[in-house]
Amino acid sequence: MLHAKGPLLTVDVSEKTATEKNIDGLLEELVGGRAVATALAHDRIPFDAKPFGPENRVYLSTGPLQQSNMSFTGRMSLTGLSPLTDGLLSTNAGGYLSRNFTATGISLLEFVGESDELLAIHVTDDGVEFEEVPELEEATVKETSQYMEENHDLGPDNCVAIGPAGENLVRFASVMTFNSRAFGRGGLGAILGSKNVKCVTFDGDSPQPVEIPNPPEMDVHREAATSDDAMRETGTTGHTQFIHDNFSLPTRYFKDQKFEHVEGIGGAAIAEKKYKKGACSACAYACKLPTRDEETGFETEGPEFETVYAFGSQHSVGDIVEVMKANELCDELGMDTISAGVTVAAYLESEDEFGNAELAQELTEKIAYRDGIGDLLAEGVHRIHDELGVEDWTVKGMEFAAHDGRAIHGQGLSYAVANRGGDHMYESKVLTKTYGGEIAAEGTKDKIDLLIEGENDAGFRDSGIVCAFGRDYVTPDVLEQLFDATYDELLEIGSKTVERERHFNNQRGMDADEDTLPYDLPDLEESISEYYAVRGWNPDGTIPSTNVERVAPADD
Ligand code: SF4
Repeated sequence: MLHAKGPLLTVDVSEKTATEKNIDGLLEELVGGRAVATALAHDRIPFDAKPFGPENRVYLSTGPLQQSNMSFTGRMSLTGLSPLTDGLLSTNAGGYLSRNFTATGISLLEFVGESDELLAIHVTDDGVEFEEVPELEEATVKETSQYMEENHDLGPDNCVAIGPAGENLVRFASVMTFNSRAFGRGGLGAILGSKNVKCVTFDGDSPQPVEIPNPPEMDVHREAATSDDAMRETGTTGHTQFIHDNFSLPTRYFKDQKFEHVEGIGGAAIAEKKYKKGACSACAYACKLPTRDEETGFETEGPEFETVYAFGSQHSVGDIVEVMKANELCDELGMDTISAGVTVAAYLESEDEFGNAELAQELTEKIAYRDGIGDLLAEGVHRIHDELGVEDWTVKGMEFAAHDGRAIHGQGLSYAVANRGGDHMYESKVLTKTYGGEIAAEGTKDKIDLLIEGENDAGFRDSGIVCAFGRDYVTPDVLEQLFDATYDELLEIGSKTVERERHFNNQRGMDADEDTLPYDLPDLEESISEYYAVRGWNPDGTIPSTNVERVAPADD
């Protein structure tokens, strides 16, 4: 089976040491990316670790396709124990980092420990250097990139960085690359912050050791380059009006499910602001959204659909320029736009301030610096909803993505059982088949098998690593050719990953009690029980420890 190659590089930021370990066996079995990182995290992070303790570990990983020039592969995965959900999770980001990362010769980078000084860490194929960077304290992501450019001649495509939000342990702080691409969900930026790691650069010339089969690669690339998908013009925002018209666009902190000013923030509004094409490394699909407001000259990249929801409809703000400003703030300060926007929406609800875009942006900035009310909001909705006097619209502490489970019941079921809670990227099938009209939006009972296949499919694609937006091009047939394995074998890798996450979370006390929603759905309890049964899990949502093999090497 095709798999990533190269050692695991462990960087201990307490000791300022870097050691390489051969993990060929693990890569052969689990391919790379999220699957390998989850196995390492499961076996090497103590089950009772504190998210902000030195014993927590973070893994930046590639799959074998990151060593190719195929479309839909310019992505990387980040894995760790989340300060938002208190469970194990992965999140992935695009950009141009993956080729520079693999050129250093490693397949995964692991951080452990806690530094007393703020650090930039430089990874090359000649070794690792530690640089103290007190001058970057509370620097924005762009300022940090600029410093690396001026002092090390390395661009934002060579870096991952955190902003002030990560340093200040905001529970939904992101890790950024290429200035605008976010490892967004779950607050892993705050884990780097707790370790005092401000920035990591990658620079090398190692030869690419993975040979990618040719025929499917060429077809995928050509199809991506010639596709007439609307998404190539307006990214994910192209769906905004459709979702509003046919399903639901959560509005004013979930009070409404339609937004009367949707035209002001949807695909057409974005198309008007988009001024050039944007892509991830080698991807001919190029769905990214560099936007500019000609009147003021203000520029950002995005906002994507989820940001349009979190800072638009959820705040009752129908002006795309205001959403662009909030998007840029989150990128520069290093925060997940979904959790930040929904948390601010909870505050606007508590103060009856919907429609106040200026206040929303002020609050966003205060969160990143934990300034005044921002200190409370930096904890996320789950921990502060009582204090604000609003409902807890999260699952496992994760603020909901836009795709509304109250209208798309299969998506609601997915949120309930997902190891990382209210994240729409956890499964890949139910949502797309509902939008495509192949399955009914209503009901949870008949969607269990599809949901499990979608979770396993996403678990594998995050390991390959294949962008979720490439699923119509990198089909199961193409995956089989690329990886020289049956689709069932690939799904099994995804399934093992879901089970390792679940088992880790079980050891931290999470079980069926956490698989809940803040609203009712038809047959939800019955469907969750059936989901456990089909997966072969216990009725209380746990997995027997004997079912989960420990495969990762121990520390020397
Ligand atoms: S489809 Fe879009 S997000 Fe995915 S790799 Fe290509 S440009 Fe990046």
